[in-house]
Amino acid sequence: MAVNTTWADSSTCPFCGDELASPGAGFVDHIRENDDCESEHEQWRENLAGDLAGEWAG
Ligand SMILES: [Zn+2]
Repeated sequence: MAVNTTWADSSTCPFCGDELASPGAGFVDHIRENDDCESEHEQWRENLAGDLAGEWAG
């Protein structure tokens, strides 16, 4: 399993470690307001998609 969709604490941002207003929904607001975290999140999602594509193709 190459896919890792979990992080230790969903009440903090996995990219900058900031506390979130609320787990889940707070994270969406957080990355919307933080360009750095948003672009890291984009890359993280692309990495996941890349891993999946590799596994499906393999
Ligand atoms: Zn963050």
